[in-house]
Amino acid sequence: MLTHCLGVPHISTGDMLRDRIRHGAAEMGTAVVATMQSGALVSDEVVNQMVEERLSQPDAKNGFVLDGYPRTLDQADHLSRWFDARGIREVVIYLAVDYNIVIARLTGRRQCPRCGTLYNLATQPPSVDEMCDLDGEKLVIRDDDNEAVIRERLAGYERQTQPVLEHYRVAGRRVVEVDASNDPPETVFKKICQAMEANDR
Ligand SMILES: [Zn+2]
Repeated sequence: MLTHCLGVPHISTGDMLRDRIRHGAAEMGTAVVATMQSGALVSDEVVNQMVEERLSQPDAKNGFVLDGYPRTLDQADHLSRWFDARGIREVVIYLAVDYNIVIARLTGRRQCPRCGTLYNLATQPPSVDEMCDLDGEKLVIRDDDNEAVIRERLAGYERQTQPVLEHYRVAGRRVVEVDASNDPPETVFKKICQAMEANDR
């Protein structure tokens, strides 16, 4: 919704990594796959280089939405230097969601292995239990979606990513905070737009 409204590309490091693994890029190898499946974060150097290459593409010339990056202080420093050298100004959008709500959402997620359609047992269940509405295939839980992996990912977030938010706040960069715990995506989107407008003034 945000990229559509702004007319800029959505750049998700998670999607990019999954994409590279799917296409078996030689330099990614099995180590990255194992790291992702354990819920840990992929090395800063790998991700920084991947993002830089992506941001240098022509479609990102007039702006972009970064999703899942930067997640560590080193990544944030790297990105700030890259931005400052090019006169790019960023806005940090912080979607605050209660941990218990995150876990309930993620563990309820199911995917059809045949067509890729995503369901959520809590908010968007299939009409027949555990079966894809489109092709009747039995739904599966993605490997990185079980609760132990999610808790490890949240711990990693607290350890590595929470300090990134503090870093931007202390440095006086633009940070927009939105409570995203209970509202549907459309409402969260409206809140983001309102918060950004308020921040512009
Ligand atoms: Zn399906």
